[in-house]
Amino acid sequence: METIVTTDPMVAAEVIRSGGTAAFPTETVYGLGANVFDEAAIQKLFDAKQRPQDNPLIAHIGHLDQLDQLACDIPGFAWDLIDTFFPGPLTLVLQKGERVPLIATAGLETIGVRMPGLELAREFLTACGTPVVAPSANLSGRPSPTTWEAVKEDLDGRIDCILKGDATEIGLESTVVDCTGTGPVVLRPGAISLEQLQEIVPKASKASDADSGAALKSPGMRHRHYSPRAAVVIVKGAIPPGGPDSAFIGIDQSAGQFSNSLILSSVEEYARAVFEFFRECDRRGVKTIYCEAVPETGVGAALMDRLRRAAQG
Ligand code: AMP
Ligand code: MG
Repeated sequence: METIVTTDPMVAAEVIRSGGTAAFPTETVYGLGANVFDEAAIQKLFDAKQRPQDNPLIAHIGHLDQLDQLACDIPGFAWDLIDTFFPGPLTLVLQKGERVPLIATAGLETIGVRMPGLELAREFLTACGTPVVAPSANLSGRPSPTTWEAVKEDLDGRIDCILKGDATEIGLESTVVDCTGTGPVVLRPGAISLEQLQEIVPKASKASDADSGAALKSPGMRHRHYSPRAAVVIVKGAIPPGGPDSAFIGIDQSAGQFSNSLILSSVEEYARAVFEFFRECDRRGVKTIYCEAVPETGVGAALMDRLRRAAQG
């Protein structure tokens, strides 16, 4: 199939309305969209990404009026989070509405819902006239795409359309928060930190790794993720000597001995750059990528989560 590349959100929305798959930018990473009520389109999306069918999708909305098509029995604390953080990089897991097909949620009775902060994304979603399920627009397991070129690298010829926008601002996927229990529980860290959630709902907590319920509640967290072909090694303390086949990314100004290195000036910039750096290292045939560890506060918690998963890759 030919993949159309367009800058016009109306063209991409027409692809979704006619049962196709279209990638689009958000403030987190690029997503690959399909109409949430179109089971055949969702199957095409799983096939294009080679995504395991037991990994649930996040439904995206352009405005809050679309929420009741997706979810029901929304608790008060979830509304408090919606009032504060929507639109933005936050996904809430809610009881699913009965019209939502089980293929979208990988058989779960719950659904992840997000309203992206990027205006171009909301323009596109509003023009679609339906909520849109959208996992990251990469081949399953690869680093998430933060540019339209990265989407093309993985999915050219496998999807119907790419809505071309800028490189993404945050560069890591949304914070996923389960709202189906007695209080918010962070299943996947993202740019909205646990501390920020607790300012609004003090009882917000984080699912511990020991909590096997968390893995069950967020099935996708079991899968291989975010991995470049190169080996990823997290560096705490002294930076190893660089070689021609190795690369370094971090915020330590003293790593000049690596021929492939990217030194950023903040954790936010590091998060924004890391997935594209992984891809660039693969293009250059790098064998080992050393990644500096960062303190696990704010977006640092999300960055360390992704680095650990990539290192397991
Ligand atoms: P992505 O692959 O970035 O689109 O993220 C999707 C991830 O969100 C999944 O792998 C799950 O970890 C999480 N998620 C989506 N829907 C649900 C749900 N209904 N319940 C729990 N976690 C979910
Ligand atoms: Mg993904």
